Amino acid sequence: MVAPNPEFISELSAAGGDGAKMCFQCGTCTAGCPSGKITAYRIRKLMRMAQLGLKEDIISSEDLWQCTTCYTCEERCPRGVPIVDVVIALRNIAVANGKMFPAHKKTGQNLVAYGHTVAINDKIKAQRKELGLDEVPPTVLANEKAMADLSVILEATGFKKLVE
Ligand code: SF4
Ligand code: SF4
Repeated sequence: MVAPNPEFISELSAAGGDGAKMCFQCGTCTAGCPSGKITAYRIRKLMRMAQLGLKEDIISSEDLWQCTTCYTCEERCPRGVPIVDVVIALRNIAVANGKMFPAHKKTGQNLVAYGHTVAINDKIKAQRKELGLDEVPPTVLANEKAMADLSVILEATGFKKLVE
């Protein structure tokens, strides 16, 4: 049994998740959430846990990372709660407490290594060639200076260390 922590809502508000206070638990968000259809993730429940200040439960849960930020819930919420902002704020708090879902960390590592969150492998290169495109897309992958600049930014902001 975890004790509610009313002070957490202040921490969440400071992180950009102030909208959690507006949720009146109607469940419309969960009803339309595509992630919730294939996982145990329930966005309504997450909002309630945030209101109650169940910080440790939230930041330790895989559920926090199941949202795809598709915004379906936000379009339907009768209270106009900025739900995705709340999810992102909760994730930022989790990361600040040393908790990041491995798949998300891997995505960040791809950005550091390739300048892309999805790696361009040999299969993708072959498919691009078949379509008559350059094997390497005209992004940081084809521009050494842009890749070097990105690397400086990722280092300076602490992003590299975060996803090590
Ligand atoms: S739809 Fe909006 S008000 Fe209803 S439970 Fe979800 S976040 Fe709360
Ligand atoms: S933004 Fe996240 S919580 Fe909202 S419907 Fe999409 S996956 Fe579900």
